[in-house]
Amino acid sequence: MQATLTQTISFEGVGLHSGKPVRMDVHPAAARFGIWFKRTDVSDADNMVRAIYSAVGAKPLCSELTNDAGVGVSTVEHIMAALAGCGIHNALIELDGPEVPIMDGCSADFVRAIVEVGARKQAARLYAIEVLSPVMVEENGAMAMLTPAGGLEIDFHIEFPDAAIGRQHMALDMRNGTFVRELSDSRTFCRKADIDMMHDNGLALGGTYHNAVVVDGDDVLSPGGLRHADEAVRHKMLDALGDLALAGAPILGRYTGVRAGHAMTNKLLRKLFANPSAYRFVPCTPEQAARLPGVGVRKADLALVA
Ligand SMILES: [Zn+2]
Repeated sequence: MQATLTQTISFEGVGLHSGKPVRMDVHPAAARFGIWFKRTDVSDADNMVRAIYSAVGAKPLCSELTNDAGVGVSTVEHIMAALAGCGIHNALIELDGPEVPIMDGCSADFVRAIVEVGARKQAARLYAIEVLSPVMVEENGAMAMLTPAGGLEIDFHIEFPDAAIGRQHMALDMRNGTFVRELSDSRTFCRKADIDMMHDNGLALGGTYHNAVVVDGDDVLSPGGLRHADEAVRHKMLDALGDLALAGAPILGRYTGVRAGHAMTNKLLRKLFANPSAYRFVPCTPEQAARLPGVGVRKADLALVA
């Protein structure tokens, strides 16, 4: 069965790119609605933006959605991961600016609010996207791949020259609230040299040592250090879940990412949907539904979220 929120949840923060304040209200929505963003600050053009892979444009550092009128919403991946990871299929997300608030650089605030109000089951069948044959994209030594599996699994490898990150690998079956417990509080990370360059170029103006883990060689510069020794690869898995949620339905398959990023996961989805023999939409059997990321999330799991 599909699910939505029991009530509206609200957030105030700043945009990663602009550094400007933004308010976000996530409202319950009807069955089969899907996930849509609404730009309440836009009144002279279509202000509804669907959370779907085919609306993703090219913006560095994050996933940005744009509708046919050119109205966009950026940095959608952490709220998308939170909704998918908590089993919310239908929601209307109102924003009074062009970006989802970055909060502390992960999905923890969103997850806490979703789990606190809880999910409401809806009388509509849940469909999933079953991966039938392997699909892969490769570019400059990076790779992303989907292969058949009974539920959603995420397997990620990263490698950075900075010793504070280095080489990390993690693989998780996303069932039983795994996302909430293992991934939701892992923050975006970046290298000091990159953040300096971005600020010099007027990018990531909302990026601070409090909403990203900033590393420089051996050192973690953000106050309080890391939440997990392998926080970086966990965040990449969080991003992957959020980007995969733009498929429009839960995926039954194994995602493998090697140094992959938002653009590569989007290319992977486009390649999957361009090949009708590689996937099919299936009504979830109870066994399949029980393996989806949002099933089995409990309030007690919040004690494990930083
Ligand atoms: Zn991210």
